[in-house]
Amino acid sequence: MNKNRFDLTGRVALVTGASSGLGEHFAQVLAEAGAKVVVAARRVDRLRQLADRIKSAGGDAATVEMDVTEHDSVKAAFEEAGRFFGTIDVLINNAGVARSMLFAKTQEEDWDYVVDTNLKAAWRVARAFVEQLSVAGRPGSIVNISSILGIGVGYGESLYATSKAGLIQLTRHMALELMRNNIRVNALCPGYIETELNSGYFQSERGQAYLKNSIPSKKLGSVEDLSGALLLLASDAGAFITGVALPVDGGHLLHSL
Ligand code: NAD
Repeated sequence: MNKNRFDLTGRVALVTGASSGLGEHFAQVLAEAGAKVVVAARRVDRLRQLADRIKSAGGDAATVEMDVTEHDSVKAAFEEAGRFFGTIDVLINNAGVARSMLFAKTQEEDWDYVVDTNLKAAWRVARAFVEQLSVAGRPGSIVNISSILGIGVGYGESLYATSKAGLIQLTRHMALELMRNNIRVNALCPGYIETELNSGYFQSERGQAYLKNSIPSKKLGSVEDLSGALLLLASDAGAFITGVALPVDGGHLLHSL
C-alpha cells in the first residue's frame, strides 16, 4: 500500500492571497507535503516572511506579487512564478474578500468589490493556470476556496454568499470541461474558521451567542482543521475526485430547522 498518497514532492503549488489567514496556512501545509510553493498576494513583505518561515522549516518557496483583480498582474505573476520553479501543477484559488451588509443597503460598488475578487478573479487566475498547463501538456489540480455560505444562506451575506455559490458552479463547469486535460477542479467550503480577522467578533457577546445558538458543535474550526481536506483535493489521494464542493465545517450546515 502506498502510504504517501498525499505527498506532493516534485509538484509546484501556487496559493493566492497567501499573505494572511487560510492562504498563509495552506502554503505551509503544501510545503510540508513536499511541494515547492509560490506564495502570491499584494503584500510582498508579508509573503517574504512566510517564504522565509517555509524555508527555515526545510521547504522551498518563492514569492510573487499578484493582484488577482488585475489581468496584467496575474499574467506577470505566472511568468515570474514559472521562472522560479517551472510549470505550476496545483493552484489554490484562495484570495477573497467579505463585505457584510443587508441586501437593501448594498451598492454597485459593493457588488463589484466582492464579486470581482471572489468570483471573476478566481476565473482569471484559473485561466492563466490552465493556459500554462496546456502549453506544458501537464495534468493539474485546482482547489477553489469557497465557503459554506456558497451552499447555505446568512443574514447580511448576500454578496459574499452569491460570489461563493458562483465559484462552486464555476468549479463544476471547469471540472467537466477540463477532465479531458487531466485537470481536476474542486471547491473547498470551510465553515467558520478562527483567524486574526474574526477572533475579536467571536470573543464578543454577539459572537459568543452566535456560536451557542447557530453552530451545532458550538465551536469554530481552526486553520489546521482544513489541512487534510486541502491535501486530499490537491494531491493524488484525490485522483478520482473532481467537481465536488466539499464542506469542512464540523457539521455547521447541519444546523437544525
Ligand atoms: P484573509 O483576509 O486573512 O485572507 C484573504 C487574503 O486574500 C488576504 O491575504 C488578502 O490580502 C487576499 N486578497 C484579497 N484581495 C486580493 C487581491 N485583489 N489580490 C490578491 N490578494 C487578495 O481571510 P481568510 O479568512 O484567510 O480567507 C481566505 C479565503 O477563505 C477567502 O476566500 C475566504 O472567503 C475563505 N473563507 C474563509 C473562512 C473563514 O472563516 N476565515 C470561511 C470560509 C471561507
